[in-house]
Amino acid sequence: MPVATAVRTKYEAVIGLEVHVQLLTKSKIFCSCSTRFGDPPNSNTCPVCLGLPGALPVLNREAVTMAMKAALALNCTINRQSRFARKNYFYPDLPKGYQISQYDEPLAEEGYLEIEAGGARRRIGITRVHLEEDAGKSLHEGFPDSAEKSYIDLNRSGVPLIEVVSEPDLRTPEEAYDYLTRLKTLMLYLEVSDCNMEEGSLRCDANVSVRPVGANEFGVKTEVKNLNSFKFLQKALAYEIERQVEVIEGGGKIHQETRLWDSREQRTYGMRSKEFAHDYRYFPEPDLLPLVISDEWKEEVRRSLPELPEARRERLQREYGLPEAGARLFTDVKFLGDTFEKVAKISGHPKLAADWVANEVVHLAPKIKVGAASDLVTVSPENLAELVTLIANGTISGKMAKDILAEMFTSGKRASEVIAEKGLAQIADPEAIAKVVREIMAANPKQVEQYRSGKTATLGWFVGQVMKATRGQANPQLVQDVLKKGLG
Ligand SMILES: [Zn+2]
Repeated sequence: MPVATAVRTKYEAVIGLEVHVQLLTKSKIFCSCSTRFGDPPNSNTCPVCLGLPGALPVLNREAVTMAMKAALALNCTINRQSRFARKNYFYPDLPKGYQISQYDEPLAEEGYLEIEAGGARRRIGITRVHLEEDAGKSLHEGFPDSAEKSYIDLNRSGVPLIEVVSEPDLRTPEEAYDYLTRLKTLMLYLEVSDCNMEEGSLRCDANVSVRPVGANEFGVKTEVKNLNSFKFLQKALAYEIERQVEVIEGGGKIHQETRLWDSREQRTYGMRSKEFAHDYRYFPEPDLLPLVISDEWKEEVRRSLPELPEARRERLQREYGLPEAGARLFTDVKFLGDTFEKVAKISGHPKLAADWVANEVVHLAPKIKVGAASDLVTVSPENLAELVTLIANGTISGKMAKDILAEMFTSGKRASEVIAEKGLAQIADPEAIAKVVREIMAANPKQVEQYRSGKTATLGWFVGQVMKATRGQANPQLVQDVLKKGLG
């Protein structure tokens, strides 16, 4: 079944992505209901998001601000005026029978996102960024009578989304993967979404077609839906490209259709055409005024944008001498970058600060790396800086610092408090160490003899004995020095 590589390479794929990003506002886009995920079904609802007759939508200003942030960071032009429209379709989880979205007058247009594929940087065009409301959710599983019935949860109804539509500029599944990764990183960095794919905060559909290499015309495209993980996106695209090449090579035609990715069977399949009507009969939303963005508002949002990841990465490498991978972690997760910079500044030890934030803090709160809320880190930058300083001046060893940090995480105490309470300070007094060394030498004359007769490897054994006797608190370098003197 697979197409031979020689045949496959005669074709190139053309891919565009439509990505839905749920915005992190506290309330919904057209009412004041909470957007909290995981609350009891239908508890966060009101006449507006239930679609009851006569209820009127009121636009959430914060949702517009977040959408503008995203659009500006994607290098888009914000339209002075945009308009909401009704997108009509029937689905049980859409109580109004239409979704409020934007159509021919979107919030923002003509941007780009830079990707890096095969070592080369490339700009992928962003056609538009528009605002819309989410639909509710149909629950087909998990109830005793799920075999016969589906349930509806409207908590998600009216949660604000932006849709980011790319130009058909992507050529391979790998490029699509890189594009989505960078888009996710950017949204997390701007703190406009938690981009949690399991909870549906980031959803991706792909338009795919193939054409002979060198052709200018696009082939007929299919739309692949249900790509709810990065892995699925890549696999579904690879499958769909292969399928299209095979159909064309076999003399067949590609039909414009919507296909779903089936992760169990590892293939896409076409939806029956009636399942998906393309005629949405958009028309302007009569209950909302056109959205007018003043220059002042736009400038205010522009000024509120943080230093963007690419620029910050370069600066971190330059300013603190961080390696690229280290700088990347600090720009992938904004909170870590902010923490690192504060710890580095307060302690004056950037290298140690980078080590401790990138390794030990992440180790204690691993979810941070996937962009989970920053309140997972209960230790303030000031307290982390104190710990780093204590390591740098030799008061505590790195090994002790790990235990102290774990204690700081659970108790919220400062490093110096933990050290005082547990009597953990490193023994850096040569006389105190020499006393322990003398005792151990006296108790182990045979090993002393071995060392003196030339078996210098015994030194390691002595270091171990001293560390054991001091419960790991002796400064290891000092122990070595004192031992060498005593044994020599
Ligand atoms: Zn509501």
